[in-house]
Amino acid sequence: MSLASEREPLGINGTLIWYYFICKREVWLMARQLNPDEHDENLEWGRFLHEWRYAREKKELSFQNVRLDIAGERDGKLVVAEVKKSSKYRKSAEMQLLFYLWKLREAGVEAVGELRFPEEKRRENIQLDDVSVEKLKAVVSDIRRIVAAVVPPKAEKIGFCKNCAYREFCWA
Ligand code: SF4
Repeated sequence: MSLASEREPLGINGTLIWYYFICKREVWLMARQLNPDEHDENLEWGRFLHEWRYAREKKELSFQNVRLDIAGERDGKLVVAEVKKSSKYRKSAEMQLLFYLWKLREAGVEAVGELRFPEEKRRENIQLDDVSVEKLKAVVSDIRRIVAAVVPPKAEKIGFCKNCAYREFCWA
């Protein structure tokens, strides 16, 4: 795996938004499709989330390569649920869900979000507003800047590194 990739970066997606608030170096690596290990269970959040999906709510919405749980309707708006194992990375989870709400709005679907932390028996309502749209625009623009760079941001040791799929690459 080379450090400077010639490949075109992927479009901005919810996963990149999630990692943006964890590690900007990982955003670069993921966007450049430098996949260290396809089988690393820490990398594929989709698979991870599947385990935590509420069994009784089978309704799903496929949208821009993500599957969102539809948890019903509230005040005429779709309720989109995102299930996370813990609230440790709550900020990432919130911004990722807001990003999906924003993209849904752009596609003409008004929705509200619900973050679920089943292990903590906790739910949180997430509402897209003008402030969050402005924040998302700034994040998307910064991700574009990060991804356009020839080399990734420097590695910085954080708690997430020990579970990160790129740990060997960054710290070997
Ligand atoms: S190992 Fe640490 S520094 Fe490297 S990409 Fe993962 S979180 Fe970022």
